[in-house]
Amino acid sequence: MSKYAVIVVDMLEEFVRGRLRAEKAESIIPSIKKLIDFARERGIPVIYTVDQHYQEIDFESRLWGPHAIKGGRESHIVCELSPSPKDYVVPKRRYDAFEYTDLDLLLRELGVDTLIVTGIHTHICVQQTVMGAFYRGYRVIVPPECVAAATDEWHRIGLEYMRNFAGAEIVDLNTLLKRLDVELRSSVTEVV
Ligand code: ZN
Repeated sequence: MSKYAVIVVDMLEEFVRGRLRAEKAESIIPSIKKLIDFARERGIPVIYTVDQHYQEIDFESRLWGPHAIKGGRESHIVCELSPSPKDYVVPKRRYDAFEYTDLDLLLRELGVDTLIVTGIHTHICVQQTVMGAFYRGYRVIVPPECVAAATDEWHRIGLEYMRNFAGAEIVDLNTLLKRLDVELRSSVTEVV
């Protein structure tokens, strides 16, 4: 029986509606909402990873310019996906949400072995976080309706890369939810 967590990468004002927005970011909000509502109902941890940079000193800003500045509106999670009090929020300063954060420690303490990864951008922070998960031995599932990139081409390339090089399972959201529902129900029956 797998122990799941849902990871929501960078669904922030900056990347949904700001200067560095992914073209289809708004359109994936309802799918992510559906998934996190399902997860919360069934006790699957929901973990937000949040780009939060220091003005001036952050190395990443040399490439992208100042973005998602800590304390600014751009680094806020969009209101449609506001975390609940039981969710976890992990700040990050690099693409990969495992790099220099406590994400791995948190997942280990929660006993998680399988990540359902969502958010933006498919080929940047999502892909790098999935690679970080692969390096640390986590199984990864990516529902394509729950990730987006600046262009459809980058989105497609990101999905292919994660499938081919991290063994990520790309499963459409409805199929995944049905599968999880059956799996979680049978585990309840086993316990009884
Ligand atoms: Zn950044």
